[in-house]
Amino acid sequence: MSESVHKQDKEVAPINWSVTAVLGLTFIAAITIVPWYGIVHGYNAWSWLFFGIFLVLNGIGIGSGYHRLWSHRSYEAHPALKWFLAVVGGMSLQNSIIVWSARHRIHHRDVDDNDKDPYSIGRGFWFAHIGWMLKDYPSGEIDLSVVPDLQKDPVAAWQHRWYWSLVWVTNLGVPLLLGWLTGDMLGMFLLAGVARLVLNHHVTFFINSLAHMWGRQPYTDENSARDQHFLALITYGEGYHNYHHMFQSDYRCGIRWWHLDINKWFISTCALLGLVKNRKRAPMFKVLRARINMDFKRARQKLEASSLGGRWRDLLEAEYAQFAETVREWQQLQMERVQQGRQMLADRIGAETASLTARYRELERSLQLQHKRLALLTAQVM
Ligand SMILES: [Zn+2]
Ligand SMILES: [Zn+2]
Repeated sequence: MSESVHKQDKEVAPINWSVTAVLGLTFIAAITIVPWYGIVHGYNAWSWLFFGIFLVLNGIGIGSGYHRLWSHRSYEAHPALKWFLAVVGGMSLQNSIIVWSARHRIHHRDVDDNDKDPYSIGRGFWFAHIGWMLKDYPSGEIDLSVVPDLQKDPVAAWQHRWYWSLVWVTNLGVPLLLGWLTGDMLGMFLLAGVARLVLNHHVTFFINSLAHMWGRQPYTDENSARDQHFLALITYGEGYHNYHHMFQSDYRCGIRWWHLDINKWFISTCALLGLVKNRKRAPMFKVLRARINMDFKRARQKLEASSLGGRWRDLLEAEYAQFAETVREWQQLQMERVQQGRQMLADRIGAETASLTARYRELERSLQLQHKRLALLTAQVM
C-alpha cells in the first residue's frame, strides 16, 4: 500500500483551483481582515450573536443532517426538519448532501485504504485535513453509485440542484441583509460570514484528520478512528469517532448520557417534538462485546510484554472462555427470538417479550461485570 501512496501522491494530480481559491482566500481573510476590522472598528453584539448562531447551526446541519441523517440514515426526519438541515448544512460550503455523503460512505467502506478512502489518514495529517480537496486525486472522484437513495430523496436532490444559489444567498445575502438591519454590514459579513465559515470548515476537517490520530480506541483498533472528549466538544459529538466507525448506523456517537454529543441531544429533542422517528441504536450487547474484545486484546498484549506468566494467563483465558459462553448464549437467544417472532400468537407476545428482555438484560449485566473484572486484572498485570 505504501508504494501506491507514493505513486498517487507523486502523480501529477491537477490542482483544483476553485476549491483552493475559496479555502485559501477565506482563510487568509479570517486571519488578517477579520482581526484588523475588530481592532480598528470593533464588532457589534449583533455580529457576535449571529456568528455564534450560524456556527452552531452549520455544525448541526453537517452533523445531524449531512452525516447522521443522509450519509448513515440513522433516523427518519420530518420534511420540515430535512429542509432546515439542508439549508444550514449547505451554508457551511462543504459541497451538496449528495456529493458529501457519497465520499463519506466510501470513507467508511474503505477506511484507511490510501487508494480508495478519499481522505485517508495514511497519507498524512495535511492530506486528510484539507489536502485531499486541493487537487483532483483519483481517490476523491465522486461515485454516485453509493447514494442511489439520496438521488431519489426530494430534499437532497433539490439541494444538489440549487447548491450554489443556496451558498451565495446564505453566505453573502443573509449576512449583508442582517448587517444592514443591525447597522454594520461589513462587520456582520466578516464575522458571521467569513470567520464563521472558516472556523466551521476546520472544525469539520478535524474529524477526518485529528479524529483519526488522537484519542482512545475502546471499540476497535482495526481502523485508525479515535474517541476524544475535547474533539467531541468542538465537533458537536462527532469526535467519538472510534465508536462511530464501529457502529455507523447509530444516531449517537457518544453513547453515555454525559458524552458531549450535541448532535445526539439535538436529534433527541427533535424526537420529543415529533420531528424525528425510528432512531437507530446499536444493541448494548454488541457494544459491550466490542469493548470486551478490545479488553482481551490489550490484556494479552500486556501479558506478552510482561514477565508474568502461568497463573495470570490461566485467569485471563478462563475469563475468555466465560466471555465466549456469554456470546454463544446471546446468539442462541437471538435465534430464539426470531423463531418465536414467527410462531407467536398475538396474546402471548407481551409475556414472551418480557421474558426475553429479562434474559437480554442478564447477559448484558454479565458482560458489564466482566468488563470491570478485566480492567482490574489488567491493572494488576501492569
Ligand atoms: Zn472517519
Ligand atoms: Zn460517518
